[in-house]
Amino acid sequence: MSVIVALLALVLLGARAEAQRPDSTLIVRVLDVGQGDAVLIENGGSRVLVDGGPSAKVLGRYLDQYRLNGDTISVILTHQHADHYMGLRELFAKRRRITVRYFWENQDPSPNVTLRRLRDQIGARVREGSLTYRSTDDPCANGQPLCTITLRGGAKLHIMRPDPNGDGANNRSVALKLVGPDSAFTMWMAGDAEHEETDWFERGAHYDVTPGMSVDVLKADHHGSCTGVTPRYLELLRPSLVVASLGAVNDYGHMHEQAKEMFQRRQLDWYRTDQNGTITLKWPAVAGNGFSIEVERGGRNLSGPSDRRCRERG
Ligand SMILES: [Zn+2]
Repeated sequence: MSVIVALLALVLLGARAEAQRPDSTLIVRVLDVGQGDAVLIENGGSRVLVDGGPSAKVLGRYLDQYRLNGDTISVILTHQHADHYMGLRELFAKRRRITVRYFWENQDPSPNVTLRRLRDQIGARVREGSLTYRSTDDPCANGQPLCTITLRGGAKLHIMRPDPNGDGANNRSVALKLVGPDSAFTMWMAGDAEHEETDWFERGAHYDVTPGMSVDVLKADHHGSCTGVTPRYLELLRPSLVVASLGAVNDYGHMHEQAKEMFQRRQLDWYRTDQNGTITLKWPAVAGNGFSIEVERGGRNLSGPSDRRCRERG
């Protein structure tokens, strides 16, 4: 059954028309938050944070470093695991005076006390009238599976409904495709989606058709786990670069050897936050066309101390 998809554009944070054309530079920072995910997207003054990592303290350091206190930020929580949402609590700390404009998450019921508290804080801002709370299952609140938001510098972010029947939190991860101004840079992020859901992106949701899955950069699903990548997934995405977010010491064996082998078979380079620190992707590159990659330390295609073979699949 084909999914009918409507492309709706809504302008994020575009409350006031400006005489001056906003800067179209697109900056994506895959923050070094340890074992977890937090990706900060900036374009023309719009800021979107995809997940907040496992620690409020660590995210707080980045909020200070990038001078985001007092600013307006929209948030997408890919799925409800602590290594993705714990840090987000810091956005609601009063002293930071941060306006959270939109907050997307799948809104699945959770017994977790911390997540409930975070949802209470979201609810309080909704009542104040400063925050719009959206479900990733209905991202534009119009019944359609795909919602496209336009940032002030012209970049677009496609927010795609997760598998409604996804088994477990990982397979309820929202998929995101970031498209730079003039379609010059593209990136795919899908939280911790595993094989069941990444198969569904193609066969169930037909995201390979709309909005299309081919990208320049892939944020490795599930921290470089073998459960987050298949040859078919890479065939659809056709990235030229992979970035992975993980902690050097983790109990999961990330990045899994099988995942790295799959990247190597496609001659794909990767950077990883545990070995490279925060990874900054910038479009346009300072010199010439394309995008630039900046890391805090180390080179490409490194291994980490926890890397091992996964026993499940892959
Ligand atoms: Zn995770």
